[in-house]
Amino acid sequence: MVDPVAPARLQIDLAALVKNWKALNALSGCAGAAVKANAYGLGAEEVSKALYEAGCRNFFVANWNEAHQLRDIIAQNMISVLNGIDDDNIEFARAHRFKPVLNTPKQIGLWRDNDGGLCDVMLDSGINRLGISEDQLDDTLFRGLDIDIAMSHLACADEDRYYNDAQRKSYDKMRAIVKSKRSSLANSAGIMLGPDYHYDLSRPGLALYGGIARDELRPYIKPVISIKCRILQTRMMRKGQGIGYNSTYICPKDMVVATASLGYADGYLRNFSSAGLLSKGFARFETLKLPIIGRISMDLITIDTRESEDISEGDWIEIAYNLQKSSSATGLSQYELLTNLGDRFQRNYR
Ligand SMILES: *Cc1c(COP(=O)(O)O)cnc(C)c1O
Repeated sequence: MVDPVAPARLQIDLAALVKNWKALNALSGCAGAAVKANAYGLGAEEVSKALYEAGCRNFFVANWNEAHQLRDIIAQNMISVLNGIDDDNIEFARAHRFKPVLNTPKQIGLWRDNDGGLCDVMLDSGINRLGISEDQLDDTLFRGLDIDIAMSHLACADEDRYYNDAQRKSYDKMRAIVKSKRSSLANSAGIMLGPDYHYDLSRPGLALYGGIARDELRPYIKPVISIKCRILQTRMMRKGQGIGYNSTYICPKDMVVATASLGYADGYLRNFSSAGLLSKGFARFETLKLPIIGRISMDLITIDTRESEDISEGDWIEIAYNLQKSSSATGLSQYELLTNLGDRFQRNYR
């Protein structure tokens, strides 16, 4: 049997991923890995396996489905479920040994009433999203629980704000009350706030996958993904003709335009459409940097070939996907640029 060949490829460099984790592990003393949302779109199973083999022993997912997906790859007591436990999942949780991150008094009660076993807890030190806040905390709240990690999460770690320090102080106050085996505060950006933020364990996500959460990370972090797609057609355009939906790009001269197999259904969103003649996305072919012009369609993009005679139907081109640069060009966050990447890509792991 012959399988069809996908017209767009997402190359994932697991060696670069492992290097990034090792760098973050060295910077913070001990790093876990946030592998929620299918490891930010890169493939939770492959990513978790590579990180486990490199020595990572703490994995963070958002929900029980994501934990379940990793059940045969990672020991269950190394996986923390950030969104916590609810009535619907207590039976599943009892049958497995994943750790819920208990976020509310109700979740704590549910876990205790069901003799849950080892768990983590989230202390809300000021992001005001999930977790037990300072005013809810008393000596009795966690009584009888076997708590591995008492964690908290920073709201502004990518900025230099007094708020980081304030959160750390609030976290320290709460930690003194909660009896846990380990403490954990920093995400990718938080690691670069310095040793005061490292505690027993850091929880990077974005930086593992090549994201630059703070400029200070740049020397340590390598790109992990690259995108390739195929030229489906080339066309000679005349000055004054429009390209794509709504003809938003009017050719300023005679030019050869190539149409390639990538679109917003793959996660290459319309934010990459050119603003008139001004391009926000680029393709690379050999040494050429080629502007992406006109609207991004569902399955197609159009490219200025810059008078290169070498580009023709069937060629593979690379799409520029530097997360920091693409983020500032499109207004999408580096997190969105990763997690949008869709199922239609053939994911190739190296
Ligand atoms: C997503 C998440 C992380 C990872 O954050 P990055 O900014 O991607 O490093 C860490 N901790 C918690 C609680 C999270 O939800």
